[in-house]
Amino acid sequence: MAEQRPGNDDTPIIPGTNYKVHDSQRPRPRVVEPPEPSTQESPGRPPSDAVVLFDGKDLSNWAGKNGPAEWKVENGYMEVVPGTGNIESRSHFGDCQLHVEWAAPEKVEGDSQKRGNSGVFLMGQYEIQVLDTYDNPTYADGGAGAIYGQCPPLVNACRRPGEWQTYDIIWIAPRFEGDKVLSPARVTVIHNGVLLHHDKELIGPTTHKTVKPYTAHPVTGPLMLQDHGDLVRFRNIWYRDLPKYDES
Ligand code: MG
Repeated sequence: MAEQRPGNDDTPIIPGTNYKVHDSQRPRPRVVEPPEPSTQESPGRPPSDAVVLFDGKDLSNWAGKNGPAEWKVENGYMEVVPGTGNIESRSHFGDCQLHVEWAAPEKVEGDSQKRGNSGVFLMGQYEIQVLDTYDNPTYADGGAGAIYGQCPPLVNACRRPGEWQTYDIIWIAPRFEGDKVLSPARVTVIHNGVLLHHDKELIGPTTHKTVKPYTAHPVTGPLMLQDHGDLVRFRNIWYRDLPKYDES
């Protein structure tokens, strides 16, 4: 006998689904324990179904160009060690919800692109720029949260240097058939709770002073963090694979 469940069974079918309006038999969402928000003093806790890439303890989930990642870990964060190169997550993933926290050096040195520069590279090749753009003019498509070299953020929501900042990113990987692009990558970026991009299409991988078309690649890739020579810090990095709607 069917379980007595709240809802209705004498309502119309919702177009495009096999479910009735308020269908009592429609599977209910699974429970996720929500994240504990971070504060300036301490990183929060990821949601219960997140894959944690960095929990503040070590870089075991990361690789450097010649083996282990060589960035510094202390006080619950990692910090770029200039000259050791970019680091990549050992996990490869595609469509996702990604959370990254970063802080530019408190001591202000340099200007434009030479102040707190790093980057969050989805799939190792599509950069959401990390830069201290608090009172630091630079070219529009190179500021904090820019799709670097392609699209400026809608607004500049940068916190002061030294303060922890959050990126929450919804990433849809590009799809290929052979060498053909079936659908470009799309990204939504929220910086410190403020929307910077909404479902914005990328024209191709990130490059510098030029444009580059897509090159076909798998549907998953690593997260890469950039060594641009500045002492940028990161903490509380996690992602969730994008759940699918159940409309069967
Ligand atoms: Mg950068």
